[in-house]
Amino acid sequence: MEAGDANLRQTDGKDRATQSLLNKLIRSNVVNNTNQVEVLQRDPNSPLYSVKTFEELRLKPQLLKGVYEMGFNRPSKIQENALPMMLAEPPQNLIAQSQSGTGKTAAFVLAMLSHVDPSLKWPQCLCISPTYELALQTGKVIEQMGKFYPEVKLAYAVRGHKMERGVKIKEQIVIGTPGTVLDWCIKLKLIDPKKIKVFVLDEADVMIATQGHQDQSIRIQRMLPKGCQMLLFSATFEDSVWKFAERVVPDPNIIKLKREEETLDTIKQYYVLCNSKEDKFNALCNIYGAITIAQAMIFCHTRKTANWLANQLSKEGHQVALLSGEMAVEQRAAVIERFRDGKEKVLITTNVCARGIDVEQVSVVINFDLPLDKDGNPDNETYLHRIGRTGRFGKRGLAVNMVDSQRSMEILKTYERHFNKKIARLDTDDLDEIE
Ligand code: ADP
Repeated sequence: MEAGDANLRQTDGKDRATQSLLNKLIRSNVVNNTNQVEVLQRDPNSPLYSVKTFEELRLKPQLLKGVYEMGFNRPSKIQENALPMMLAEPPQNLIAQSQSGTGKTAAFVLAMLSHVDPSLKWPQCLCISPTYELALQTGKVIEQMGKFYPEVKLAYAVRGHKMERGVKIKEQIVIGTPGTVLDWCIKLKLIDPKKIKVFVLDEADVMIATQGHQDQSIRIQRMLPKGCQMLLFSATFEDSVWKFAERVVPDPNIIKLKREEETLDTIKQYYVLCNSKEDKFNALCNIYGAITIAQAMIFCHTRKTANWLANQLSKEGHQVALLSGEMAVEQRAAVIERFRDGKEKVLITTNVCARGIDVEQVSVVINFDLPLDKDGNPDNETYLHRIGRTGRFGKRGLAVNMVDSQRSMEILKTYERHFNKKIARLDTDDLDEIE
């Protein structure tokens, strides 16, 4: 591979990992999905179990308590099938794919916690994640769900966690990134891979987008004993993920849940006619009261505009959050968390920065600039992803497009035609319409 390609892949991996982390952070609830789960059993003759309650799984009482304490009332769609398979005896291997937010992490965390023997003081479950931040995030879920099962301990195999060679670790669950986990197994000999009973490979699609992670994951997998349960999860399933999955998970059961289509059916779409950036800002101020009844996201084309707009709104005394491409991952995560917790009602961002982030819970979207592709042409997919919502669970929403030139009017018309949905003119001096 050319060095340039390698760099490109590296960036792609980083971007995907960031998107995935931010999606986890912005989400306050499980994503509902009305699509049918597709199940492919390794042994088509064995009965297919699915559960509608957590009780049916006969979990340890400490774990059931943890699950309920997290506010889970019943298994999510993917969990209905995945949990009985993962908890079956003898253990079964699983490859599962569903969009982010559908309950995959909670599912494999529950499986790991169910399979450990707390009386044995060595690692029995090994989970690898693509980045430090994602590993910590999953670790938090393990800690939360295991809250009433304190005998089970967790170790983080991530950068910065300096360990002495040869001092065996006692924690039953290890979560980490591939490189550090490999070191802990081979160089430092802290983990005996032969004693691992459950191996989880999370975010496989993000994993393989990062140079080196694929080989490291395979090297780890090769050290595990026969009979170790292998579980692989991914939000997407392109060919490369599939090939990788087949290499690391022998004889798998397969569960797939298609992403629900986004529609504009439940969204009221408007446009506001303006002459300039300042004019758009004034229009925005006029509708500000109406849009901040709910949480709103405002999209700008460039960082410069986003910064300017955030400043202007702050000067008006409005509390706004700004998500910008120049921020480090931790900063972005902090902004998203504050917004999710309702500390700010308005989040301003750029198209690039918000790409790939699911904003289902936001019911008002303002396109301060209309979405365009990199050549400046209409970008239907981005328009739909910004303002569309899925299925019958999608809340009713409001979208306001700011139009400030002949060209942007033409673009608006192409969106109107493409989706065959009327975008009505909004008079910002007379707001009865959107109330
Ligand atoms: P994924 O790994 O597919 O991205 P997660 O397991 O992180 O999904 O779940 C997404 C969100 O839904 C999290 O906030 C999680 O706590 C919550 N969640 C998971 N399973 C359930 C459930 N059965 N009931 C309610 N909420 C759930």
